[in-house]
Amino acid sequence: MDLYSGYINRLIEELSALPGIGNKSAQRLAFYLVNQPEESVKRLANTMVEAKEKVRYCSCCCTLTDQEICPICSNPKRDHTTIMVVENSRDLAAYERTSKFNGVYHVLHGAISPMLGIGPSDIRLKELMQRLQGADVREVIIATNSSLEGETTAMYISKLIKPTGIKVTRIASGVPVGGDLEYIDEVTLLRALDGRVEL
Ligand code: ZN
Repeated sequence: MDLYSGYINRLIEELSALPGIGNKSAQRLAFYLVNQPEESVKRLANTMVEAKEKVRYCSCCCTLTDQEICPICSNPKRDHTTIMVVENSRDLAAYERTSKFNGVYHVLHGAISPMLGIGPSDIRLKELMQRLQGADVREVIIATNSSLEGETTAMYISKLIKPTGIKVTRIASGVPVGGDLEYIDEVTLLRALDGRVEL
């Protein structure tokens, strides 16, 4: 038996498909939305559509941006010879918040996971290797998470880069195992960066 109207049910269904939103939260959000003025609901919907249409990957580091080249990659004051490889744009944001890293980034948008069937070609690895060709890069810091997937990815990347002669380092494992970088405090992030070891 349907407790709510079909429209409400559909809205709850769509909302509960979002990450971190369970059925209860989805119901709460759905009722909140239908009780809001039409204008503000339209604004929210438009903002979502616009973000989807306008946001793209930086053609250099693959982070999410609304420009061809993101503000970090186009900043001449950043050290373009040091590239930190992260799993996603949220991890990039975590390191940016420390404002202690002056290099540039490369965002993989995932990690290799044989269990989930995610292989090297499913993440932005090819883009990284292309970027390294002919570029003046002195160090690649691999800052993937310390989960099994993150470690697998780190090993894979280091094997790929080693023959190029570019120095490859891995952030220290002060980061809790399985910990998402974005939830780790600034001090731990910096300690992990400072204590990086050559692979
Ligand atoms: Zn960029």
